[in-house]
Amino acid sequence: MDRFQHYIDGAFSDGSGSFASIDPATGQPWAMMPSADAADVDRAVRAADRAFRGRAWAGMTASARGKLLYRLADLVQAAAPRLAALETRDTGKIIRETSAQIAYVAEYYRYYAGLADKIEGAHLPIDKPDMEVWLRREPVGVVAAIVPWNSQLFLSAVKLGPALAAGCCVVLKASEDGPAPLLEFARLVQEAGFPAGVVNILTGGPDAGQALATHPLVAHIAFTGGPETARHIVRGSAENLARTSLELGGKSPFIVFDDADLDSAANAQVAGIFAATGQSCVAGSRHLVQRGVKDAMLACLKAKAEAVKIGAPDQMETEVGPLCTRRQRDRIEALVAASVAMGARLVTGGKAIEGEGFFFPPTILDCTDAPDAPGLSQEFFGPVLCVQAFDSEEQALELANSTAYGLASGVFTSNLTRAHRMIRGLRAGIVWVNTYRAVSPIAPFGGQGLSGHGREGGMAAALDYTTVKTVWLRTSDDPIPDPFVMR
Ligand code: NAD
Repeated sequence: MDRFQHYIDGAFSDGSGSFASIDPATGQPWAMMPSADAADVDRAVRAADRAFRGRAWAGMTASARGKLLYRLADLVQAAAPRLAALETRDTGKIIRETSAQIAYVAEYYRYYAGLADKIEGAHLPIDKPDMEVWLRREPVGVVAAIVPWNSQLFLSAVKLGPALAAGCCVVLKASEDGPAPLLEFARLVQEAGFPAGVVNILTGGPDAGQALATHPLVAHIAFTGGPETARHIVRGSAENLARTSLELGGKSPFIVFDDADLDSAANAQVAGIFAATGQSCVAGSRHLVQRGVKDAMLACLKAKAEAVKIGAPDQMETEVGPLCTRRQRDRIEALVAASVAMGARLVTGGKAIEGEGFFFPPTILDCTDAPDAPGLSQEFFGPVLCVQAFDSEEQALELANSTAYGLASGVFTSNLTRAHRMIRGLRAGIVWVNTYRAVSPIAPFGGQGLSGHGREGGMAAALDYTTVKTVWLRTSDDPIPDPFVMR
């Protein structure tokens, strides 16, 4: 079996424990992973803290930090096929997606490389004649980055890129499910030449995450995962009042009006829910369709869902691979059954595929007559589309905004004024109009409500890893006149 190690303080080491990682396509163990305990986490955080306070990182110019990030981007690009194969093996995400996504991950590092020396302070036109006042933007300190299993290289790039550009040092905890690509990525960090301790990468379960989130030397916790875990993290952060940025799940509405290009909408919907086998935080898992075109859309979606090629994730022609874990597959099957028990109509799919691996077919549930079905309110994180009909624009908005989540949304219409009204009315961090699931390092990404807070991507993300220092400098040589009057 392959064997992976942690990367702490510039060196590779075993964890206090270890565990076997399971290949989701076969259900069999394929590699041994290190597992961090609180002592490993403490070692990594202390290394990051030393690096942050030491000259090797803090003394480096922003442009030099940017150059290191450019080097890392080039290395990620060159290693993309190897990293993609590892992510496919360890998480079951299909090779078509991992290859394209990881090549694009390099662009995130490039974007933040270019941004490193553009994080500027400011000079203030202060209302006192003998004072100069300016603002310094300084890195916040040690960042704890915690990511879930899906798209670990991507979800860590949107944290590492801005945090490193801002001058922070990072301890990154890979998910215990599918950590191989991030542990391999550590080799590129070392090869790029980041000083020891600037980036530390380890893996482990909730205990390791908790030890990291509650560590007194952590200044900012950048978390992607589920809302329940986020609550633990926020409670843990209360101890030392660390900042948090939370990218959580969603139950995103995909809204189709009867004036839309229906075929285009159906293609976007299929990609929006079945890509990554539905294990995507922005999955368009609620299909809200205007009643007059519901039957036509359902027939089209059913045909497309049943034509999807399910198979081995490492084959280029495969369109839907296995779910990452048996636990996740069983959970999705139970949620589908619960929705059916509450009146949802099963249009296609619905049962785990027998045989080896954690396969579940593209599934469609018509929940129009089952408004309380879990399919309309709970995130499944799997290839399950829940359909609901609406009659008017107002009703579409009401249904769209009816969950506690607020991450993404999609609107398909050819009516420009309606599109604007929908954009205004949707409670979501992202609105896609006549498209879905487009992302870029230049565009902020994040949600509201149960979908979390804070934004990844764009300049805003880099500023989130800084703190403002206000500097007052008296320019007069006269003695300070009156000690009791504040000026
Ligand atoms: P999860 O919340 O169970 O785990 C995420 C990470 O948190 C893992 O690394 C895990 O080990 C760690 N963790 C678990 N318990 C912890 C604790 N008590 N303290 C600290 N860390 C802890 O999430 P998951 O089930 O692995 O991933 C699926 C979730 O992630 C879904 O809800 C999905 O929508 C969300 N997600 C969100 C985005 C986004 O950008 N908004 C992207 C991808 C996934």
